[in-house]
Amino acid sequence: MDLGNNNNMSHEKSKNIILKGIGGAPGIAIGKAYLVERGNVDIVDKYYIGKEWVQAEVERFKDAVNNSTKELLKIIEELPEEYRENAYILDAHLMLLKDKMIHQGTIERIEQEQINSEWALKKSVEHVKEVFSKMSTPYLKERLNDIVHVSERILRNLTGHSTDDISDINKRVILVAHDLSPAETTQIQLERVKGFITDLGGRTSHTAIIARSLEIPAVLGLERATHQITTGDLLIIDGMRGLVIIDPNEEALTYYHNEKGRFEAYEAMVARSSHLPAETIDGYRVRVMANIEMVEEVVSVLDHGGEGIGLYRTEYLYLNKKSLPTEQELFESYREIAEIMNPRPVTIRTLDIGGDKFGNGIERGHEVNPALGLRAIRFCLKEPEIFKTQLRAILRAAALGNIRIMFPMISSVEEVIAAKQILSDACESLDREGTPFNKDIDIGIMVEVPSAAVLSDLLAREVDFFSIGTNDLIQYSIAIDRGNEHVAHLYQPLHPAILRMVKSVVAAGHSAGIKVSICGEMACSPPYVPILLAMEMDELSMNPISIPQVKKMIRSVSLSDCKPLIKEVMKQRTAQDIVNILQDTFGEQFQDIASCEPLPD
Ligand code: PEP
Ligand code: MG
Repeated sequence: MDLGNNNNMSHEKSKNIILKGIGGAPGIAIGKAYLVERGNVDIVDKYYIGKEWVQAEVERFKDAVNNSTKELLKIIEELPEEYRENAYILDAHLMLLKDKMIHQGTIERIEQEQINSEWALKKSVEHVKEVFSKMSTPYLKERLNDIVHVSERILRNLTGHSTDDISDINKRVILVAHDLSPAETTQIQLERVKGFITDLGGRTSHTAIIARSLEIPAVLGLERATHQITTGDLLIIDGMRGLVIIDPNEEALTYYHNEKGRFEAYEAMVARSSHLPAETIDGYRVRVMANIEMVEEVVSVLDHGGEGIGLYRTEYLYLNKKSLPTEQELFESYREIAEIMNPRPVTIRTLDIGGDKFGNGIERGHEVNPALGLRAIRFCLKEPEIFKTQLRAILRAAALGNIRIMFPMISSVEEVIAAKQILSDACESLDREGTPFNKDIDIGIMVEVPSAAVLSDLLAREVDFFSIGTNDLIQYSIAIDRGNEHVAHLYQPLHPAILRMVKSVVAAGHSAGIKVSICGEMACSPPYVPILLAMEMDELSMNPISIPQVKKMIRSVSLSDCKPLIKEVMKQRTAQDIVNILQDTFGEQFQDIASCEPLPD
């Protein structure tokens, strides 16, 4: 449908203003807007308090932190059942209230600069923002939002600014807010609020995570929605495409009423079928697994029908701490995941840190080109003690569950041999001590650097499995920074060069008798499923919420239909030619997948 963008301002005609943001949680909502009023905590004055008032000011700050703690504890205590699985996010906020950079940093600023608490807190948050903005992982950038939400709560307690109490909103509305903290999101009355939109926030923000788990449609990152929308405006929100339509016209309303029905029917069907095996009509079975970054996500993996963890990104424990994590800390978290998932496999990827992602306790040198720098396995081979600590923790946890180990960013055979040598040193040291561990652990590598794809026949002899990381493979093959929006249009999973590489890696793995999986974003997009099936990919690993739709796609095609397709696809010269073939052959199945991202034009 052409939604048009009718900016005709006549009285009779609808304005039909379309805003584009980021799809936070799928689903469609049509309803009246309710603008959430916020006490403006951005405007903070600076004043000097004089030496004699420093102690009292520190006490005032501590009181505000205590009151914030009480407020959060009350929210957690009164959390309705449907929000329980998100309680960990609020627990993390409680901890952030005592975060050293925020809590101690503010107290030190008050004491040293003799300034008011509000200004000292503002400065501390700016400092944290600076530290976080240097991190390239969108996930960690989003964690900055958590710090901002927590400090806003303290600031409101310091200034006495009030905010709309979300839990009081009892009309069937779409909330429009500059920002919603996870705590506020959990106060939304599910049966009342149809959806929400915010100026700030991204797909991996905790607010979006909660919205997705509660299945409330949400569009985030709209930048100026609170300036463009007033309470009472009729809105359509499309959480899949990240669209909001203000004052929609008849055509848009009819289209979205139909889409809403289709989406709801699809969701109900997916929920019923997400635990069915991922098997094509003609009986070809693939394993659909999940990518996670934190232990807490394991519940969501099981809920969405994940058959294991295909990629556990282990950086989080290193980036969030003031010093390096100990072997015991790492062991505890790996064990927890392995035990919950057992007997399903858990693939632990060793540290992919470096470049511009550095944790505390890790020295960093200046690099002009961090993405091509001392990252992942290169960093670990240079810092064998840090590496060995992680390997020992993985080996120990592997005695208690079905754990596999995976090395990231391998670019040569020598690197695999060197990594395996350190792994065997770690085994020897555990053996000497008599510490229980699993010495028969499966070893795999990520194929995400073009040289590894080219050498995949040689690398396959060294390991038990491959996992293709298309996020980096595309970045390094097409020479585009994956985080740079100016070249985002060149980021094409269906680029013929990428498909040739992926196909040859699968073939090389299979001729060496090892399994091949894919864990880049390419795996979670249903339209790419027929191609991945035709290549006989053994496992697809993705964010947990995409699992049901990918399983659904797998169950709706047959391998015998996909197989001839790959021959045609591999002859094509451009990504667009491949899109056309996919659309012609599987358009009907794509139509069926309501939350399926459209193929690129
Ligand atoms: C990839 O590169 O495709 C991948 C899955 O790893 P990451 O996104 O963590 O770099
Ligand atoms: Mg990668």
